[in-house]
Amino acid sequence: MVKVFIDPGHGGTDPGAVGNGLQEKNLTLQISTLIRDMLVNEYNNVSVLMSRTGDQTLSLTQRTDAANAWGAEFLLSVHINAGGGTGYEDFIYPGVGAPTTTYQNLIHEEIMKLVNFRDRGKKTANFHMLRESRMPALLTENGFIDNTEDAAKLKSASFIESIARGHTNGIVRSFNLTRKTSEIYHTVVAGDTVYSLSQRYGSTVQQIRDWNNLDSNYTIVVGQVLLVSGGPSSITNTTKAAQGSQKTTSIVDYLNSINRDASFENREKLAKQHGIKNYKGTAVQNTQLLNKLRK
Ligand SMILES: [Zn+2]
Repeated sequence: MVKVFIDPGHGGTDPGAVGNGLQEKNLTLQISTLIRDMLVNEYNNVSVLMSRTGDQTLSLTQRTDAANAWGAEFLLSVHINAGGGTGYEDFIYPGVGAPTTTYQNLIHEEIMKLVNFRDRGKKTANFHMLRESRMPALLTENGFIDNTEDAAKLKSASFIESIARGHTNGIVRSFNLTRKTSEIYHTVVAGDTVYSLSQRYGSTVQQIRDWNNLDSNYTIVVGQVLLVSGGPSSITNTTKAAQGSQKTTSIVDYLNSINRDASFENREKLAKQHGIKNYKGTAVQNTQLLNKLRK
C-alpha cells in the first residue's frame, strides 16, 4: 500500500493568497480532495491521508508532524501562487536526489500535459513542508491568484479538475499504480433505443453528456459498479445493447437487460418516481411501469 499524504495549503483563519474574488485555501482544498478521490477511487494499493479535509487552521509543524507520524511515502503540498507572475511551478528541497527528483519530473510533466498554464519550471526551495517532512516531498504552485487570466482559469471547475488529474497522473506514474478494473455501467435511453455505456469510475452525468455529445434527447440513468476484468473502455465506445429488451413484456427482464436493479424494492421506488401509486407489483402496474420506463 503506497501512503500518500496530501496537504491542502492554508485553511481556517489563514486564507493564503487572495485575489480576484478567490481564496487560496478553498482552491487548494478542492484540488487536494479531487486528487485523493481520483487516487482512491480509481487505483489499487494507494491510501491517502490529508492534513485537512475542511476549513481548519493548522500550523506547518502540525502538517509535517502528521505526515511523519503516519509514515507517508510521499508528501504533496498544494498551493496557489501570488505576487505578480503567471503559470505553474513546483518545488523540492535543495540538494535532494532520487526518488524525489524523479517524482518532481513525472508530476511536473503530467501537469504540464493537461493544464493550460505557462511552465515556470522545476525549482528548489527551503520551505518548511519540504524540509521537515521525512519523506520525498513536492510543493506545487498552481497559477497566480492575483493574475486575472490565471484567476479566470481557476474559477472553472473543469480547469480545477485538470490540475487534479495532472497531479494524479504524475503520482500514478511515480508509484506505478495500477488502475482498478471496476467500471460503472450507465444506461442511455434515446427514444425507444437503449444503449449501455461503460464509464470510468467517478465521472459525472454532465461529463458523460459532454464527452459523447448527448443532447437532451438522451436520458442518462446512472448505473452501478458491475465489473469484473479488463481495462476501462473508452467512453466513446457506446454499444447498442439490450436488443431483446424492447420486446419483452416483463419489467424484471427489462430492468435486467439494462443492468438495473429489478428487485421489488427498486421497482416500488421507480413506480413512485413515475407516479404509479401504491405499487404492489400487479401485472397492470408492471405494464404501466414498463411503458413509463421505455418512454
Ligand atoms: Zn500557499
